[in-house]
Amino acid sequence: MSEEMRLREEMCRLAESLFARGFSVGSAGNISARTEDGVLITPTNACLGRLDPARIAKLDLAWRHVSGDPPSKEVFMHRAMLTARAEARAVVHLHSTWATAVSCLADVDPLRPIPPLTPYFVMRIGETLPIVPYYRPGDPAMEPAIAKAARTARAVLLANHGPVVSGRALTDAVHAAEELEEAAKLFLLLRGLPARQLSAEQVADLRATFG
Ligand code: ZN
Repeated sequence: MSEEMRLREEMCRLAESLFARGFSVGSAGNISARTEDGVLITPTNACLGRLDPARIAKLDLAWRHVSGDPPSKEVFMHRAMLTARAEARAVVHLHSTWATAVSCLADVDPLRPIPPLTPYFVMRIGETLPIVPYYRPGDPAMEPAIAKAARTARAVLLANHGPVVSGRALTDAVHAAEELEEAAKLFLLLRGLPARQLSAEQVADLRATFG
């Protein structure tokens, strides 16, 4: 089996798993991954629970559609993230409930809307999760705004919309998106309770140990 075919099947399997567990509903959410000669991305209006490996959209290195179904309308989010981050090979965008709830909060730190409550959040997402201001879906101004935020962060939170998460491989991006959703849930469950956060020293120790 070719590397690209393996990636197409992996994308379908991971997307189906995200859908089955409620990380995505209806036709929300989209996933992309770099190949040697372009980018694979889930098709427009596709349900993540029922993707066909052969119909995943293929774009060339200039982001032109070359085969498969038409790409997600949110392809520019993936282009912003994959172009801004040299190490990123895959991107997951979701409207997952808890992370999207945090994206609607008015009183959070726009660079660190979710505090470092657990080590895996720090390890998979990093120390910042910039909030990109709200843009109407399809507004071309969203792409440079995401690219700017992505230069200093592996993941961003689109205000009143949802997360965009990158990874060095497809599984990394999916796992990071899942970790972000769980961290958002913990943060909201603990809101108003006297929760203990990781200290600056503990966060520095994670960074020194795991990069
Ligand atoms: Zn979206």
